[in-house]
Amino acid sequence: MRFLAEHYREEKSKKFDTAGEHTSGMLASLGRISDPAFSSLCEIADSPPVNILVEKADFINSSSTLNFMKNSILVMGYDVERYMTPEDRMSSLQGVKKIIALHRAYNVPFTFFMLGKLLEHDDYVAELKKELALAGNLADVQQHTYSHPLLKVNARYMREKNRQPISLPEIDMEIKKANQLIKDKLGVKVFGLKTPIGFHKGLQGEKAILDLLKKNGMRFVSSDLVGKGDQPPALLEEEGLLRQHYVYENGLTEIPTHGWHDTHILLKNMSPYKNVKEACDYYRGELVKAHSKGMMYAPNLHPFVYSDRDHDPQASIVETFLSFAKANKMQVMSYAGYLEHTKRIDSPANQLS
Ligand SMILES: [Zn+2]
Repeated sequence: MRFLAEHYREEKSKKFDTAGEHTSGMLASLGRISDPAFSSLCEIADSPPVNILVEKADFINSSSTLNFMKNSILVMGYDVERYMTPEDRMSSLQGVKKIIALHRAYNVPFTFFMLGKLLEHDDYVAELKKELALAGNLADVQQHTYSHPLLKVNARYMREKNRQPISLPEIDMEIKKANQLIKDKLGVKVFGLKTPIGFHKGLQGEKAILDLLKKNGMRFVSSDLVGKGDQPPALLEEEGLLRQHYVYENGLTEIPTHGWHDTHILLKNMSPYKNVKEACDYYRGELVKAHSKGMMYAPNLHPFVYSDRDHDPQASIVETFLSFAKANKMQVMSYAGYLEHTKRIDSPANQLS
């Protein structure tokens, strides 16, 4: 029996100066082994196969290893947000349909972060409800504000578009309006927010905003979505720590996302991929790293990218995530599911000593 002790290390909880506690699980890196089952629409003929399934015989009696294997999680969420024109809403719906079809085919959950404004269009709501009914228990609905404002300064947007953040009373209105629309139109009481755009280190230090979110019923926020200088990508690891969920001082859980966003396929001279194939390869590389570290990986995805007229009409990027998770036995969760998971693994009984 080989325990491969040299391959893993532990991360202890770390306090942030400004807010909250960063809790990351045990880290590990695993070895080799071929994965003949894995293939995707995006596989490039001359690229090596993904080699990350584990030699079970090596690990069968290592409880530590089995624990971190359980921690390898893919959290799937989509910002549903294009609303301006009928064509925008149609492209959003087309993407929604493809995403739901794939999640049903793989039987794995997901979260839609709904922009409130979209739900002011009754024809859109009627179609969305049909799709959500098909998804059944796989669907988790949370919010993405009412109109997609910046909740705090974002350095990149300040520089490039000179976009200013809105005030606290305006944030209050944005969250309340989205809560109400989602409740009225979809019958769902939300408890999670994905902030538009996102920030390096999320809402750390923003006590007033965090308290306001909590007062409006939020239990988690996903705002830590970019790297230093508020630039993509959001890394897997920063300052020697895995970027995993953490808990702000007021009890709100932050669920960060990772990597370049799927919309960055538009930024051809900036992002590491210039077409769908390269995007799939990029995301598969991210998943290999995340899975080998036994961590949670949450990509930043948008239905309109998968519409008929847009960038990935086959939804190959979504399928890359789901097929990788299936082939490598990576758990797939919605954000709500992951929040519950964090409550279990962060409970005192499960703290690493
Ligand atoms: Zn958005």
